[in-house]
Amino acid sequence: MTAWSLSGIGVGDALAIGRAWVLAPARLDLPRRHLAPVQVEAEVARFQTAVAQVEAELEGLRQALGDEPAAELRAFLDLQSIVMHDPLLIDETELRIRQELCNAEWALVQQLEAVSLQFDEIEDAYLRERKADVQQLVDRILKAMQGAGGLAALFEQETTDPSQPPWILVARDIAPADMLVLRQHSFAGFATDSGSATSHTAILARSLGLPAVVGVPGLHDQVDQGAVLVLDAENGMVVGALDETALSRYQDRQTHQVFVRQQLEAIRHLESTTRDGQRVLLMANIDLPEDAAMAGQRVLLMANIDLPEDAAMALARGCEGVGLLRSEFLFMNRTSMPSEEEQLAAYKTAVLAMSGRVVTIRTLDSGADKDVPALQASRARPANPALALRAIRLCLAEPEIFLTQVRAILRASAFGPVKVLVPLVSGPAEIIAARELIAKAMSELRAKEQSFDARVPIGAMIEVPSAAIAIDGLLAHIDFASLGTNDLIQYTLAIDRTDSEVAHLYDPLHPAVIRLIQNTLTACRRAGTPVSLCGEMAGDPRFTRILIGLGLREFSMHSAEILRVKQEVLDCDAQAMARPARRLTRLGDPATLRAAVAQFNQHGSPGQTARPPSGL
Ligand code: PEP
Ligand code: MG
Repeated sequence: MTAWSLSGIGVGDALAIGRAWVLAPARLDLPRRHLAPVQVEAEVARFQTAVAQVEAELEGLRQALGDEPAAELRAFLDLQSIVMHDPLLIDETELRIRQELCNAEWALVQQLEAVSLQFDEIEDAYLRERKADVQQLVDRILKAMQGAGGLAALFEQETTDPSQPPWILVARDIAPADMLVLRQHSFAGFATDSGSATSHTAILARSLGLPAVVGVPGLHDQVDQGAVLVLDAENGMVVGALDETALSRYQDRQTHQVFVRQQLEAIRHLESTTRDGQRVLLMANIDLPEDAAMAGQRVLLMANIDLPEDAAMALARGCEGVGLLRSEFLFMNRTSMPSEEEQLAAYKTAVLAMSGRVVTIRTLDSGADKDVPALQASRARPANPALALRAIRLCLAEPEIFLTQVRAILRASAFGPVKVLVPLVSGPAEIIAARELIAKAMSELRAKEQSFDARVPIGAMIEVPSAAIAIDGLLAHIDFASLGTNDLIQYTLAIDRTDSEVAHLYDPLHPAVIRLIQNTLTACRRAGTPVSLCGEMAGDPRFTRILIGLGLREFSMHSAEILRVKQEVLDCDAQAMARPARRLTRLGDPATLRAAVAQFNQHGSPGQTARPPSGL
C-alpha cells in the first residue's frame, strides 16, 4: 500500500503517532419509517427522552469541568445548551413527527436541513460556523435515540488499554462537549474534515494542549478504523499507510520533540534576556478573566523557590503580565449585555490573579469574527462584517456601552496595574474620542467617590493598515501601542481570517506586513512609546528572531507558548540581528523573504553556531 498524506490546518506543533478511531456521524445511517397515527405520541415521547438525556449529559460534562480553567469549554457547553432549547430545532421537530408522521430521527434530520439552509444564507462567517454547533447537537440527540450511550461509552473499553498505542480521533467534526471525553480518554490528538484556524475545534485543541489537524477535506473517507496514522500538526499534515522506515523516521522526530520539550522546562525560571543582555517582555494573551489565574499559575507553579524572598523574583520571570485580555468573551454566548458590576468582578479576578503584574484590558472588540448577540438584535446584518460598525466604531456610536465598560475597567485598576487598550483604531479621531469618553467615565466615578487609577495608560491596537502606515499621527494621543497582527494581516492582504478557502494566502511574512510592523516599531521607538505585539505571530518561535531584530521587546501570547518563544529569546543576539533584519524588510518578493527568514533562523545571529532547521 502506498503512503498517503493530506493537508489541513495544523494546531500546535506536536507530532502524534497512533491508531485511527474513526467516528461516523450518526446522521449517515438513519432509520426512516412512516408512523401509524397511534404511534405518534410514543415517538414524540422517545424524542423528548433523548433530548432530556442529552441535556443531562451536557450538564454532567459541565459539572465534570469543576473549577478547571478551561473557560472556552464552558462557553461552548453553554452555547450547546442554548441551541438545545431553541424551538426552531426541538419544537419544530416534534411538529414534523406529528404532521408528517415520520420517525423522530428522520424528522430531526429534515429539520436540521431546514435550519442549515437558513445558516447558509448568513453572511457573517462566525455565525455561519455556528451551523456546526447545531449539527453536532443533532448528532448527539441521534446517538441518544440509537442508544449509543454517547462518545464516552463508545471509548470506554478499548481506549483504556495502556499496552496499545494511543488513539487519534478522526471525524468529520467534533462537538466541543465531546472534546472533554477526548481528554478523559487520553487521546493523542485529532483530525477533522471540517474546521478553520479559528473554529471551535482548533480553539479547543489549543486550550487542551492537544495536537490537531483540522480542515482536511476527504480525510474521514480515507482513513480505516485502527489504521496507524501520523498527525503532524507543525506542518498541518495527516499521513497514513507508512512503511516501517518512514514510520521510524517519524518516531525519531517525535522522540526529539519530547526531548526538546523537556529541555524547555529547564528555562522556565530564566529571565527572558537576549545573549547581549536585552530584556524582552513576555506576556500572556487571555480570553477570559479566569484564565489569568492559569497564566499566573503556570509561572508560579513551575518556579522552584527555596526562600520566600525569591517569590517576587520568580513571579517577575516567565509570563510577566497580561498583554491582552480579550474582554469581548464576556459579551458572547448571551443575549444581554454584562452590567458594570459583572464586568468589574471579572476584571478584578484577572487583576488580583496577576499579583501586581500589569493586565491590559482591551475594550469591546465586537463584530466580524467576534459575535455579540445582544448587539445584533437591534441592527441589520452588515454586508461586510469585518469592515462594518464594529469594535471602537460601535462603542463610539453607542457611548453608554463604552462608558459602562470603561467604568468597570477603571474600578478594577484600584486593585492592581491596568492598561486600557482600544481595538480597531484607524486614525487619531477615534482615539481622541475614546479618551474623551474615558475622561467622562473618570468624572462619573469621582462623583460617586469610587476609587481608580487616574493615570491608567491608554493605548491603541495597531491592526488596521492605516494606523500602521500613519502611526506618527497617533503617537501624540496614545500611551502605548499593541500590534494586532491577526487583523493587520487580514486587512493588508484582504484575506478573511476565518475563511479556510483563503487560509493558504494568509502570510505573516508578506513584505507588506513586515514593513507595516517595522514602520510601527520604528515610529514608536523614536517617540519613546512602548509597543508590544499580541497577534498569533508573537507566540510563533519562527518569527521571534526577526521581530527582535526589528526592535520588538514586548511579546504577548497564549501562555502555553511562552517557553518556546523564551528559548528563542535566550538564544539570540538582538544587536547583531538588527542589521540583517532590516535588510530582510527591503525584499519585495514574498517567497524570497520567506526563504531569507528561514535562513536567518537556521543560522542564527552572525557569529552564532548553526541551528537545526526550524521547519519554516
Ligand atoms: C489581532 O488582531 O492580532 C489580535 C490580537 O486581536 P484579535 O485576534 O482578538 O482580533
Ligand atoms: Mg484584532
